[in-house]
Amino acid sequence: MPESFAAAGLDSGSFGCDAPVLLADHRQLAEAAGAAIITGARVHSAQRLGSGWQVGAGQEGFEAAVMVNAAGAWADEVAVISGVEKLGLQPYRRTAAIAGVEHSLPEHSPMVAAADKSFYFRREGDGVLISPSEAVPSGPEDAQPRPGDVERLVAKLNQVTTLGISGVRSAWTGLRTEAADGIPVAGFDAEAPGFYWLAGQGGYGFQTSAAMAELAAAQILAGQGTGHGTGHGTGQGTAEGPGHGTEPSAGGGAGPESRTAEALAATRWSIRR
Ligand SMILES: Cc1cc2nc3c(=O)[nH]c(=O)nc-3n(C[C@H](O)[C@H](O)[C@H](O)COP(=O)(O)OP(=O)(O)OC[C@H]3O[C@@H](n4cnc5c(N)ncnc54)[C@H](O)[C@@H]3O)c2cc1C
Repeated sequence: MPESFAAAGLDSGSFGCDAPVLLADHRQLAEAAGAAIITGARVHSAQRLGSGWQVGAGQEGFEAAVMVNAAGAWADEVAVISGVEKLGLQPYRRTAAIAGVEHSLPEHSPMVAAADKSFYFRREGDGVLISPSEAVPSGPEDAQPRPGDVERLVAKLNQVTTLGISGVRSAWTGLRTEAADGIPVAGFDAEAPGFYWLAGQGGYGFQTSAAMAELAAAQILAGQGTGHGTGHGTGQGTAEGPGHGTEPSAGGGAGPESRTAEALAATRWSIRR
């Protein structure tokens, strides 16, 4: 509606990303390189064994030199069951819906996002994809839309646009998980040899996935985890070093539970290095 907006800016340098195609492409590349993708097998235990990791998932057990923790909103939980200090990752709810419209948007119309982050919408076939852009803190869970959230968004969009949103076809809520500084986490844990973090991509995990995967693969292949990401704070991190597991170390009991804020900050720094 003309009276609803004072100004607008157009970013003509961005483009849309087809998430299902991207996922299928990544899957194909991984499988072609010999990866086996096993779904429906929750990691319920993980421990450092010799120079590698022993992981229990579903009914099976796996052994590997490097364990990659890419569990999204559950990454801190997976760290804890692995005996690794969690990072304090915070999941935030974000809801989206697909709805029909009276007036379809032209084929190449841009995504529209309010400057105050109160909504965004874009063309989706003959309808629209809409979101209230919320970022509500949540625990790691199977998030669902809250009653009224989508209805309120539809009413608001029908006030400020001429779309004429008529019916919601589907709605879902997901979690966007962030570290305290909002910067994605990619790197070996400084205190848990062979434990690689790949988490905290927030609202950008799809568009950054190819680059993040390349970075992670390069770091893992170069480092394999032993003695990596250390040299800061506690100076731990060799395969035999202290600070892992539950027994106190000779240096004064610096197990995962007893890390100081400074040691955690150093770990965090080296993880992102
Ligand atoms: C509504 C919405 C809109 C978004 N829009 C965009 C966008 O426009 N562009 C963009 O780039 N990003 C967007 N994002 C963000 C994007 O979805 C995330 O950044 C991305 O999914 C993070 O990927 P991930 O692999 O780290 O985590 P996830 O996709 O959460 O994957 C983690 C996986 O780990 C599994 N897992 C957890 N615990 C265990 C366990 N114990 N054992 C085994 N498996 C486990 C989970 O089941 C899950 O499959 C959006 C998110 C939402 C919710």
